[in-house]
Amino acid sequence: MRATRMYFPTLREVPTEAEMDNHKLLLRGGFIRKVSSGIYDYLPLGYKVIKKIENILREELDKQGALEILMPALVTADLYKETGRWDLDVLFKLKDRKDAEYAIGFTHEEIVTDIIRKDVKSYKELPINLYQIQTKGRDEQRPRGGLLRTREFIMMDAYSFDKDWEGLDISYDKMYKAFARTFERCGISAKAVSADSGAIGGKDNQEFMLITDQGEDTIVVCPKCGYAANNEKCEVGERHKSPKEDPKDLELVPTPNAKTIEQVASFLKISPKKLVKTLIFKGKKGVYAFLIGGDRELNESKAARVVGEKSVKPADFDIVEKVTGAPVGFAGPVGKLQVDKVIADNDIKNMINFVVGGNKEDHHYINVNLNKDFTPDAFEDIVIARKGDGCAFCDGTLTEEKGMEVGHIFKLGTVYSEGMDAKFLDDDGKEKPFIMGCYGMGVSRMPASIVESSHDKDGIIWPISIAPFEAVVTLVNQNDEKQCQFATRLYEELTLAGVDVLLDEREERPGVKFKDADLWGIPIQIVVGKGVSENIVEICLRRDKIKENINIEKATEYVLKKKRMLLNELNEKANKY
Ligand SMILES: [Zn+2]
Repeated sequence: MRATRMYFPTLREVPTEAEMDNHKLLLRGGFIRKVSSGIYDYLPLGYKVIKKIENILREELDKQGALEILMPALVTADLYKETGRWDLDVLFKLKDRKDAEYAIGFTHEEIVTDIIRKDVKSYKELPINLYQIQTKGRDEQRPRGGLLRTREFIMMDAYSFDKDWEGLDISYDKMYKAFARTFERCGISAKAVSADSGAIGGKDNQEFMLITDQGEDTIVVCPKCGYAANNEKCEVGERHKSPKEDPKDLELVPTPNAKTIEQVASFLKISPKKLVKTLIFKGKKGVYAFLIGGDRELNESKAARVVGEKSVKPADFDIVEKVTGAPVGFAGPVGKLQVDKVIADNDIKNMINFVVGGNKEDHHYINVNLNKDFTPDAFEDIVIARKGDGCAFCDGTLTEEKGMEVGHIFKLGTVYSEGMDAKFLDDDGKEKPFIMGCYGMGVSRMPASIVESSHDKDGIIWPISIAPFEAVVTLVNQNDEKQCQFATRLYEELTLAGVDVLLDEREERPGVKFKDADLWGIPIQIVVGKGVSENIVEICLRRDKIKENINIEKATEYVLKKKRMLLNELNEKANKY
């Protein structure tokens, strides 16, 4: 490609709308443009990167036996209504001229299950694994980070259908391999961590996380046994033990104007660790009290799971007043508490003489003790894991890292097939629901993740596999005949040799061209300048900028060698899977 025929509107100034480096660089380099909140144009350079990522992904998925399809982006409401997902607030909904309802697909479990239930009747036809690469819509509350969290995005979603759980394990492992290899080939070192299944539901699942300080997710890791999980999911092992002391007598004490944990602790002159929060939550089936340490946060997913609800949310003021007999802020488990279940975090088991709300305005109970003053219905792990907690699988101590989600794979099981009555006839003559897995990769967020983890002050450093161009030939002086001749010759030779090369022959100052080549992050840079008088061109890699003078006769061969080396580095990492 000749730069004079290319469209790449670069910006010298850092756009004010962008906070994260990847967003700034993708805007500055002319890869993307914002259309409206969370909605972007992919310009030629940006779309080239995306297409290269898609092609690597296709190769890896096809290798694992997955089959590419394309489902509609416009999904009829009936399908989402079958599983209750029509009510999710992330859906973009619309009506046609006959008032029929639709949503823009945000993930396609229902649609693909509908395909399979219509035509697949026998175990003999299984397993089947279908995938698509498609634009999706999600009405995100807070789009951010440029391409990282958008309202319209390109996603690869795959769905496996097996006759039994063993089959699902095999399908899942194949997809794990396809994902891990794709990330490595795209230059992303992603860590697979256990994750919460959130709104999709299901059993085991793992997120692929790019570890970076800029990540929006917290990953909790055990350095000892290697356990890694999203903090939303992370199981917490043995906690800190309270020092031994003798149980004292329960006492209701006034705590005027003390509402927050800090205020109560400072009023009572005790450590916040002595306080137990009683949180009143509501689900579809009932109202619950969750007891957690004053310095901890409730993990709503864990909490919902232990009470058998899909989700729970804080109860409204009137419900809190009704079940505790006091205004919000004074709930406690001692005495009258009209809830369906009282669940205490495992931490509470070890506590002695602690403080809880008094179920009375401006009052707290002090010297509360288990079994003597109240007994919860159960002790469970219901808090968000954090640094310093014990590992649930060994005697290690958990640490935290920041990560960016780039993929997510689930063992769905029968959540959708049962919900949508999708069954097949097994070899024992019985009808059974399909055992499903689903696998998602955020294709359009991958360039953002890659740039975030691979850039310097001058611009992007693309891995060669997905760079918008593998090499750039920069013509220093477009009015110098010999330089023109050399640059054109190299450009043609490289193109013939299969290198995706850009010839920068624009009427620009050399400084501008060099700056752009760095900003665009093209991995192999060839400069055709004054050296031509001695048949020399200058070649360097974007990542280290170590320049080598190469004879024009050997230049193509040299570039090919560098290209193979860069690709091999990525492939070697992928081949570990
Ligand atoms: Zn461990």
